[in-house]
Amino acid sequence: MLTITDSKNSLTDSYDVAVVGAGTAGCLAASILAESGFTVCMIEKSRGVGGRASRRKLAAGVVDLGAPGFSDERLLRGTQQAQLWRERLQHWSEQGCVARWSFAVGHFGEGSKPSNEERLCGAPSMNFLHRHLTATIPVMSCSRVVRLERENTDWILLGEQGALFAKARQIIITAPAQQTRPLFDWPGPWLPVMDNAVRQTQAQWVAVLHFSTAQPQLADVYRGEHPVLAEAIRDSSKPFRRHEGEYWVLHSTFNWADDHLHAQPEHVAQSMKQAFLGSVGGVADPAVVSCHRWLLAQQRCASEDPGYLWSQQLNIGICADWLMGGGIDGALMSAQQLVSAQIIKTGSKEKSDE
Ligand SMILES: Cc1cc2nc3c(=O)[nH]c(=O)nc-3n(C[C@H](O)[C@H](O)[C@H](O)COP(=O)(O)OP(=O)(O)OC[C@H]3O[C@@H](n4cnc5c(N)ncnc54)[C@H](O)[C@@H]3O)c2cc1C
Repeated sequence: MLTITDSKNSLTDSYDVAVVGAGTAGCLAASILAESGFTVCMIEKSRGVGGRASRRKLAAGVVDLGAPGFSDERLLRGTQQAQLWRERLQHWSEQGCVARWSFAVGHFGEGSKPSNEERLCGAPSMNFLHRHLTATIPVMSCSRVVRLERENTDWILLGEQGALFAKARQIIITAPAQQTRPLFDWPGPWLPVMDNAVRQTQAQWVAVLHFSTAQPQLADVYRGEHPVLAEAIRDSSKPFRRHEGEYWVLHSTFNWADDHLHAQPEHVAQSMKQAFLGSVGGVADPAVVSCHRWLLAQQRCASEDPGYLWSQQLNIGICADWLMGGGIDGALMSAQQLVSAQIIKTGSKEKSDE
């Protein structure tokens, strides 16, 4: 059961850790801490959990509107952490919230034979992993944190008009760099890292098409050099999706999104649909059923440095995709590193000092 606290209420108890943002990094960080015995609360500006791994309910089923899936390659790279991630992925798969998605990849405009690939995805939609991770954690939704204040050794998290959201000894911020930056009005060595990430964040348009019948002549995913489309994904090819007909999700290129940032969604969706039909050919005319602009979609530069940020003096940390090379895998690794290297270690030390 997902515990979403109504935004009119506040989490006024004092927690060991308050996590700002219930995307991938926030949900994993909160879950590891709760499992390790910390009292944790989460504060999220949107209605539900998942962040950029979000979904949209449509007439014929639910589709993934943000990240379509993720790779386990970086998680399983090297020896130190690989076993931990293998066990965690296995556990999520046994819990039914993550599944392996095998798909055929074609290239826009080319008749070459599709190749086969695999990724992981949330099941039955991307944010079921996040729902699983936060099942026992209080999440205060529709609540944008705008200010952080100190009260003796505690932090106070405040919303618009000074609304008190929560009190905590430590804070983890997991918002995108653009949304993290305004929370820090004190100068510090973190600002250049944030400013660099802000410059590397790219916008993307996503359009959803619905075919009333299956289109078996197509590959499941299309990629390749295209001026408008970065990727076209048969959402219905993912495991455990229940769709009437077939949903396709089109992702624009970053450059095309930049050039059409302020265009009308209806025009954007029509252009993306025409681009798709023009490059795969031979399909029935689908309906455009949704269009969404992600202003802060993905990181352009995939630097894994510094991984996370932590101030022992202030008891505040940041973990997110933009600190660990982008992507869902980056968000997972950043959260894991911050909580295991800093908070759990420090927390248990302070507890044993008491
Ligand atoms: C179209 C698209 C395609 C993508 N494709 C892929 C892909 O193929 N593979 C892949 O690995 N990744 C992909 N990604 C990127 C992936 O979704 C992100 O890297 C990942 O979800 C980031 O997780 P996060 O926890 O760091 O941040 P987020 O998911 O952005 O979570 C941050 C959360 O903080 C909340 N928040 C922000 N400010 C505040 C505030 N002040 N107060 C309270 N809450 C706040 C936000 O609402 C959000 O829920 C894609 C993203 C998009 C949009």
